[in-house]
Amino acid sequence: MYEIDFNSIKTPAYVVDERLLEDNLKLLHSVMEETECRILLAQKGFSMFAEYPLIGKYLCGTTASSLFEARLGKENMPGETHIFAPAYSDEEFPQILSLCDHVVFNSVEQWLKFRPMVLECDSNDNIPSGIANKALRPGVHSCGIRVNPGYAEVEHEIYNPCCAGSRLGATIEEFENALKENPDALDGISGLHFHALCEQNSDTLERVLEHFLQKFGKYIRGMQWVNFGGGHHITRPDYDIKKLIGCIKRVKEEYGVTVYLEPGEAVALNTGYLVASVMDVQRKHFEYKCDNGSVVAMTPVILDASAACHMPDVLEMPYRPFILGSGLPGEKKCNYRFGGNTCLAGDIIGDYSFDEPLKPGDKLVFTDMAHYSMVKNNTFNGIGLPSILACDSVGGIRIVKEFGYEDFKGRLS
Ligand SMILES: *Cc1c(COP(=O)(O)O)cnc(C)c1O
Repeated sequence: MYEIDFNSIKTPAYVVDERLLEDNLKLLHSVMEETECRILLAQKGFSMFAEYPLIGKYLCGTTASSLFEARLGKENMPGETHIFAPAYSDEEFPQILSLCDHVVFNSVEQWLKFRPMVLECDSNDNIPSGIANKALRPGVHSCGIRVNPGYAEVEHEIYNPCCAGSRLGATIEEFENALKENPDALDGISGLHFHALCEQNSDTLERVLEHFLQKFGKYIRGMQWVNFGGGHHITRPDYDIKKLIGCIKRVKEEYGVTVYLEPGEAVALNTGYLVASVMDVQRKHFEYKCDNGSVVAMTPVILDASAACHMPDVLEMPYRPFILGSGLPGEKKCNYRFGGNTCLAGDIIGDYSFDEPLKPGDKLVFTDMAHYSMVKNNTFNGIGLPSILACDSVGGIRIVKEFGYEDFKGRLS
């Protein structure tokens, strides 16, 4: 962690430290140099486009989950623009084609539905010659199909794309049944995509990859690329980069394809903070049984940051974010339960302890709040959005964006 003067900050505010972001980017870039793989920013996890010029210096482009994300990436970062969505609409697809150089379809059926539009021909019976054997003409959209390797080690079912009946990606049975019905269905397809990791290390990737290759390996020979999706926690201190490099090189060498990775979280992991202030320390307290068995008096505290509005993953995932200088309940003398300034009873951030009593106006710094925070926040209860700040290479803080009433009103009618 680099030094930042959090006391000067008007709260609530997300602060992204560009020094930490650049450290992450350098690490990701070193994987690209070592393996010749291509790494994209998955904007779903981090869409702070003010930082796209910096990110674009190190990564190969962006990937999107929707038309709007694709446009944001295309307009703000040089390099490639990829997209995957569970389904494309007839209305949006022409715009998607105008923005994206790589388009990944969720099933063979989605691909066949849009193939004539991609290849600019009348119908699937009239595919131009020369695109058989999967390779596309240069300069034409590179298309892929998302497959479901049928194996994942994701603990939270909400994040498991290989759960029973998953709507994400074609299983080998679905894929092969579609090929039986349409033997030329892969004409025009340049790559396969899988995404089955969530905050995981490369040992999990290695096992997922084994399942993917066993099932789909024979189809990627002759194709141009394989996309390993996101969920690689590459910038976490204990991540085994050597193993990742081994996985990439194996696929590149055995199958002759370019490997893409599209992390979101790993790009911005541990690069930002949410700075909040204490609004009220309540007079009441309740008995709280700590994990170590001791019982402490826990005092409710209202913050100007909300779990529901500003860090929804705290409730959705769920997890307990870390606060600088805090301990677990019972670990330090003063125990507090932090909640947001909303009417939702469950807008609870978590339970913490501190050496000194808190008072209104005290600042609290939540760590690791750059990814899946500002992309998911909302103005529920009329709560304002935190400002977005950046900390530059010499520690200077600048306000990138502030929000107000118009941002609340603008999405209502
Ligand atoms: C969510 C997602 C990503 C990014 O995942 P992270 O966990 O943020 O790395 C990449 N690709 C696809 C298809 C996704 O759904």
